[in-house]
Amino acid sequence: MSKRCREPERTCVGCRVSQAQASLVRYVLSPQQQLLVDYRQKLPGRGVYTCCDIDCVVKAVERKQLQRGLKVPQLEVDSDQIVMAIIETLLQRIENLLGMARKSGQAVSGSQAVLNGIRRNEGFAFVLLSDDVSTGIATKVLSAAENRRIEVFQMFSKGRIGEILGKGERSVAALQAGKLANAIRLEVQRYKRMSREN
Ligand SMILES: [Zn+2]
Repeated sequence: MSKRCREPERTCVGCRVSQAQASLVRYVLSPQQQLLVDYRQKLPGRGVYTCCDIDCVVKAVERKQLQRGLKVPQLEVDSDQIVMAIIETLLQRIENLLGMARKSGQAVSGSQAVLNGIRRNEGFAFVLLSDDVSTGIATKVLSAAENRRIEVFQMFSKGRIGEILGKGERSVAALQAGKLANAIRLEVQRYKRMSREN
C-alpha cells in the first residue's frame, strides 16, 4: 500500500496482516468482561482486530489472540458465537442500506422491471437474486446481467427482499450505481467471506 495513504492500519490477530482499520472487525471487552464485536469501531477501550473473514476469526480464537490482545487470557471465547454475531450485524447493515436505497428511489424490483432495466442499460451497479428464485427467472436474469457485465449477488428469501423493499415477494432486485450501491456491495462481500459463501 502507498505511503501517501494516510488511512490508519491495524493488524489482524488471525493472519497477522496489516490492513486499513476500516476494513477490519474490531473487538472490545464489555464492562461485564464479555467479548463484544464493535462493528462500527466506536466503543471505548482497548480493541483488537481481525479481517472480516471466518478463517481469521477461527484462527484468532484457536490461538487465543483475541484474549491476549484484550489482556484477559482466561476469557472463554467461542468462534461460532462471534461469527454469528458478525453475520447478524452484516445482514442488518445490508437490510438497512437496501431500505435506504428504496427510500431514495435507487432500487428497482421485480424480474420484468429488472430485466428491462438491464436491457436498456439503466446503470445498475448490481442485481440481487433471492435464494429461492425460480430457475427460469434466475437463468434469464443471469444471462442478461452477464451480457452487460453486471454483478449478481444471491441472498435473502424473496419474502425478505419484498419486505425490505416494501413490496410483496420479490425474487429479483437491482441497485442503481452510486455510493449506496457501493456500500451495499462492500457489506455483501464481507458477509460472503464471513459465511464462507465465496
Ligand atoms: Zn486476517
